Amino acid sequence: MLKGIAASSGVAIGKAYKLEQPLIVMKDVKGETEAELKIFKDAISKTISDIEKVKERAAKNLSSEELAIFDAHLMMANDPEYHSQIEEMIKNGSNADEAAKSVSDMMIAMFESMGDAYFKERAADIKDVSYRLICNILGLTIPDLTAIDEEVIIIAEDLTPSDTAQLNKQYTLGFCTEIGGRTSHSAIMARSLEIPAVVGTTGVMETVKNGDMLVLDAIEGHLIVNPSEEEVKEYSAKRDTYKAEKEALKVLVNEKSVTTDGHEVDIAGNIGTPKDVAGVVANGGEAVGLYRTEFLYMDSTDDFPTEDEQFEAYKAVLEGMNGKKVVVRTLDIGGDKKLNYFTFPEEMNPFLGYRAIRLCLDRTDIFRTQLRALLRASVYGKLAIMFPMIATIKEFKDAKAIFEEEKAKLVSEGVAVSDTIEVGMMVEIPASAVLADKFAEYADFFSIGTNDLVQYSMAADRMSQKVSYLYQPLNPSVLRLIKSAIDGAHAHGKWCGMCGEMAGDTLAAPVLLGLGLDEFSMSASSILPARKMIRSLSKAEMEKLAEEALNKETMEEVVELVKNTLNK
Ligand code: PEP
Ligand code: MG
Repeated sequence: MLKGIAASSGVAIGKAYKLEQPLIVMKDVKGETEAELKIFKDAISKTISDIEKVKERAAKNLSSEELAIFDAHLMMANDPEYHSQIEEMIKNGSNADEAAKSVSDMMIAMFESMGDAYFKERAADIKDVSYRLICNILGLTIPDLTAIDEEVIIIAEDLTPSDTAQLNKQYTLGFCTEIGGRTSHSAIMARSLEIPAVVGTTGVMETVKNGDMLVLDAIEGHLIVNPSEEEVKEYSAKRDTYKAEKEALKVLVNEKSVTTDGHEVDIAGNIGTPKDVAGVVANGGEAVGLYRTEFLYMDSTDDFPTEDEQFEAYKAVLEGMNGKKVVVRTLDIGGDKKLNYFTFPEEMNPFLGYRAIRLCLDRTDIFRTQLRALLRASVYGKLAIMFPMIATIKEFKDAKAIFEEEKAKLVSEGVAVSDTIEVGMMVEIPASAVLADKFAEYADFFSIGTNDLVQYSMAADRMSQKVSYLYQPLNPSVLRLIKSAIDGAHAHGKWCGMCGEMAGDTLAAPVLLGLGLDEFSMSASSILPARKMIRSLSKAEMEKLAEEALNKETMEEVVELVKNTLNK
């Protein structure tokens, strides 16, 4: 049994599909020229037809925008100049693999040296195509997520956003990765897709072989390789109970999130793409409390998404929520979230560097495009926007001023925009949590981002497994920062939500309710368990619990206090 971190709840039993890139070992025996030419020609035809097949299958899940990458790859694979250079080298005595590699490496180096984002993208295309070509020359198979046509549990080092976009929910029973933590983006995507997932499973790539039978327990966070019959029975029962409990919660879809003593809160959903709205609606979310717009930028392959492309996405989300509030977070890029078409400066600590609102206030062209798209979409529903990573009052004021300028411009151009857009901010840097009563004079609302707030309070990288024990949202120090944020908002009649992972943790909910949190925003699959929890609690009693929790010394003591209170 391998231990990992439960990232998206559920139990899955099935065969392993290992997502592993084959290791290239070049041929060391010299081949006949004619034979090598034929190997190359066959391999390039196979490469072209492979890319066409991947594109065709991916078309079921991806937008035309996202599919453009395959066209670029096809163009490269069909390029006569590329073919003739490789053939030339073979005729001069090289083997097919060697010729393909050296011609490709030369072109990659040439494009990379041009510096421009467009040429960097072309270099990346050649890397992809040549990798496929060399594998075909050597007879190696490249795994392809879109080709999966039976139920499997995917095993991978990590899954990128484009991997998760290609996952077919019908056949993906679950996934288990070697790296990552609860708040890494593959984990967040798994929760939006409602696929059981265990991440940070050290040793999984070495231990599991393709086709091994697996039990993935994403409630506890472990993986059993080649389980006994007994274990399969036991976990089948656990899986069925989990599914039945999930089904039973459906009676709460149209109920309010109200405590036993009549206090109402909002339970909202976090989304990454317009497609995720369906899950929030199906689970009875009262709002979208966080739309992470960076996925729109990360999915775009060769340039920033245009104003119109963004407008369409925001409009779709607002319409999908049918008048319920949608909190859109402006671009939060940088740290671990990179873009293909944008070069970030080299920094020692990217998590503490040029990212999110810092980048947007520097590159106001990027920021203004997004704000205009949001403003234009605002008439299609109830829009609120918030800025990520605000550390100072000046940053908030500057961002808000740019928003007002774009709004005034659109109005003067005769474009309809809503007049009731709330403009708030994320509280995810301790500085803004401490000074919340001042920020609340300017911001219409707060949303506490505990994934980062905990990382920055504890000075513990959220991506690092070694220090993951410091992810302690229930540590009294963090609770005091949360209290400061909520009290600061309330002192000015503003509301305070939370969109970090802590909001969906049923052990944290009693304390957060007691501290006065107004809105809890979480992955869609956590909404109903959270509503059930809130409906079983008394606000007055949780206030007492929160008071006690703030005066504990350790996270463990707080957890024990909450458990004892719930047991009573
Ligand atoms: C957070 O930091 O808690 C948050 C919600 O933002 P992200 O996880 O996207 O950084
Ligand atoms: Mg954050």
